[in-house]
Amino acid sequence: MALIVQKFGGTSVGSVERIEAVAEKIISFRDRGDDVVVVVSAMSGETNRLTALAQEMMEQPIAREMDVLLSTGEQVTIALLSMALEKRGYGARSFTGGQVRILTDDAHTKARIREIDSTRIMAQLEQQNVVVVAGFQGVNEAGCITTLGRGGSDTTAVALAAALKADECQIYTDVKGVYTTDPRVVEEARLLKTVTFEEMLELASLGAKVLQIRSVEFAGKYKVPLRVLSSFEEGEGTLISFEGDEAMEDPSIAGIAFERDEAKLTVTGVPDVPGIAYNVIGPVSEAGIEVDVIVQNAAADGTNDITFTVKRGESERAKSILDNIARSLKAREVDLDTKICKVSLVGVGMRSHAGIASKMFKALAQESINIQIITTSEIKISVVIEEKYLELAVRALHSAFELGDPDGEHSSS
Ligand code: ADP
Ligand code: ASP
Ligand code: MG
Repeated sequence: MALIVQKFGGTSVGSVERIEAVAEKIISFRDRGDDVVVVVSAMSGETNRLTALAQEMMEQPIAREMDVLLSTGEQVTIALLSMALEKRGYGARSFTGGQVRILTDDAHTKARIREIDSTRIMAQLEQQNVVVVAGFQGVNEAGCITTLGRGGSDTTAVALAAALKADECQIYTDVKGVYTTDPRVVEEARLLKTVTFEEMLELASLGAKVLQIRSVEFAGKYKVPLRVLSSFEEGEGTLISFEGDEAMEDPSIAGIAFERDEAKLTVTGVPDVPGIAYNVIGPVSEAGIEVDVIVQNAAADGTNDITFTVKRGESERAKSILDNIARSLKAREVDLDTKICKVSLVGVGMRSHAGIASKMFKALAQESINIQIITTSEIKISVVIEEKYLELAVRALHSAFELGDPDGEHSSS
């Protein structure tokens, strides 16, 4: 008998029929004698629908009210799933994030979990009930509803698994597990049996939305056994392994991640003097805008060009801050390009394999894709390219590094 936390994403609870199927899956574990805590997302499309409603009301919705609104999506699914279980003769109790004291900081719409009080959940498990918790939400000290950022139900699940010392946290989704790249973009993408924690962290932070990055951070910090698997098909899915490099399947590359939602800002002709990068980037980050890739180039004429990327949704705001800085620094010009994307190769094996970068650049060159920015770390190489080449680039790299399924089996669901 084990204690298992299971999370079902939006598509998996997208209709009454699917919620019934989720109930059946949970029952198969209950019948084995396992204790089960379930975390559910809102029905697919619901969080987007609510977001659109808010934006109809005001262009920049008030963050506190946004959380009150968005958290309703998950409240619907916990109730329906509990009904589905009760109807089948299995005890079930639904709880909002606040009711099980998922305590967060005050950062509305992107709150971080601080603490979870597991007593109420444990009491329910002792009474042989399935505990169904609303994902993506918590409360701050003042008792106001907060949400954890898009994709946040993954984080609720892993945090609960850590707090309850669960034997496993299972993330059920609409694909069979973690693939070498998004199987919706590359049909030949291969399902990974295992991926190291370090690689999963990079993949998630570089755009693979199959797991929210914070959920992976939590799993790492508390060593939560974490598995991603399909709600719709049987299978072992992908285990996030903590065993280090040996667990790797591929000697060099685990996968390819990409991010569409990026924009590039360049300020040219600023004086090449100490403190200039700080003067340019400082005000942007002080405004709460997350700056991603940064490059700086000194020209022979004693000036500098500084280029950096931000989330596309924040790029106009970043541009107006930069316009002000540029004026005071007497810069030549400020340019905003919203039609870019970032493609990244990830793999712990890169550490010991030379020539990966040049192979990557060659594959892109063969498709006549111009690289605008390159950044590297020990286990990843990222390039910024024109957005229209995203799919082409991902497919070209997937085949250049022979990441596809050797049997040619199409394994996406
Ligand atoms: P859920 O609603 O279950 O949380 P998400 O849509 O958030 O599901 O995440 C699952 C999706 O992540 C898949 O449908 C797939 O398109 C996408 N994805 C991106 N990169 C990968 C990858 N490397 N492996 C698997 N899925 C990926
Ligand atoms: N419903 C939220 C979202 O769509 C949280 C989640 O699904 O993880 O982002
Ligand atoms: Mg998700």
